[in-house]
Amino acid sequence: MAKVAFLGLGVMGYPMARHLMAKGHEVTVYNRTAAKAEKWVSENGGRAAPTPREAAEGQEIVFACVGNDDDLRQVTLGADGAFHGLKAGSLFVDHTTASAEVARELYAAAQDKGAAFIDAPVSGGQAGAENGVLTVMCGGDQGAYAKAEPVIMSFARACRLMGPAGSGQLTKMINQICIAGLVQGLAEGIHFGKRAGLDIEAVLDVISKGAAGSWQMENRGKTMNQGKFDFGFAVDWMRKDLAIVLDEARKNGASLPATAMIDQFYAEVQKMGGNRWDTSSLIARLDR
Ligand code: NAP
Repeated sequence: MAKVAFLGLGVMGYPMARHLMAKGHEVTVYNRTAAKAEKWVSENGGRAAPTPREAAEGQEIVFACVGNDDDLRQVTLGADGAFHGLKAGSLFVDHTTASAEVARELYAAAQDKGAAFIDAPVSGGQAGAENGVLTVMCGGDQGAYAKAEPVIMSFARACRLMGPAGSGQLTKMINQICIAGLVQGLAEGIHFGKRAGLDIEAVLDVISKGAAGSWQMENRGKTMNQGKFDFGFAVDWMRKDLAIVLDEARKNGASLPATAMIDQFYAEVQKMGGNRWDTSSLIARLDR
C-alpha cells in the first residue's frame, strides 16, 4: 500500500481519491475550497492538508486533477505548490486534461527535485470516476510508470504508457478529436431523422447494431433526441480541450478542419447558454 496525496476534489478527483482510500492506500487530500476536503475526510477518513505543499510532503505518490494548464502550474510550482514539498524518489501523477507542453515542463521541474512526473489524463467521465473504471493515458518514464500503474488501477479499468512526457496528453487530444466528430455526426443524423418524420428511437435501435453504432449512439442518442444535456462533461471543458488540440495541431502541422469547425459549433452552444450542458448538446444548435 502506498502513502499518497490527491490534489483537486472536483467532479473527477473526489471519487478517484475515494477509490484510493477504499483500496487501502494512506490518503491525504487537498482542495482549494477547504470545505470540500473536510467533507471528503468526514466521509472517507484520511487527512486534509491546507496547501498542496503540505499535502505533498513525505508522500510516495502525489495525484492531481485540476482544471487547466494555469491551475496545474499553480498547484505544482506556485507559492505553496506541491513541487516544493515533493521528496526525492517520489512520483507526481497528473490527471488534469492539459497541454503536452505543460506536461514536459513539469516533467523537467520534477526531475530537478529528484522526483518523477507522469501526465495521465483520463477518459470515462464522471460515471467512470465514480465506478472506478476510467481509462488512463500516460506519458513519462517506464520505471516511474511501473510504480504508478498498480496504484492508478485503484480507479481505472485500463492504463497504458504511450511514450515520453506529453504522450498521455497527446493521446487524450486524439480522444477528443474523435468524440467531437462522432457527436456532430450523431447530432446531424438525429436532426435529419426528426425532419424526415421518423421514429428516432426505432432508427437508433436498428442502426446502432450496424456500422454506424458507437458509444455515443448507445449512451447519448436517446437523450439527445429528448433534448437532455445534463450528463457530465461540460461544453466549457470541451472548448478548453479543443483549444489545446488546435494549438497542438498548429505546431505539428496536422489538418483538423472538422474539429476546428465543431469547436465553433460549441462556441454557438455557449452563446445559447449551454456552457454547463454536456457535449451531446451540439444537436441543440441544429434543432433550434
Ligand atoms: P471540477 O469539478 O471543476 O473540479 C476542478 C478541481 O480543481 C476542483 O477541486 C477545484 O477546486 C480545483 N482547482 C481548479 N483550479 C484550481 C487552482 N487554480 N488551484 C487549486 N485548485 C484548483 O472539474 P472536473 O470535472 O473534476 O475536471 C477536472 C479535470 O479533469 C479537467 O482538466 C477536465 O477537463 C478533466 N476531465 C473531466 C471529465 C469530466 O467528465 N468531468 C472527464 C475527463 C477529464 P475548487 O473546489 O476550490 O474549485
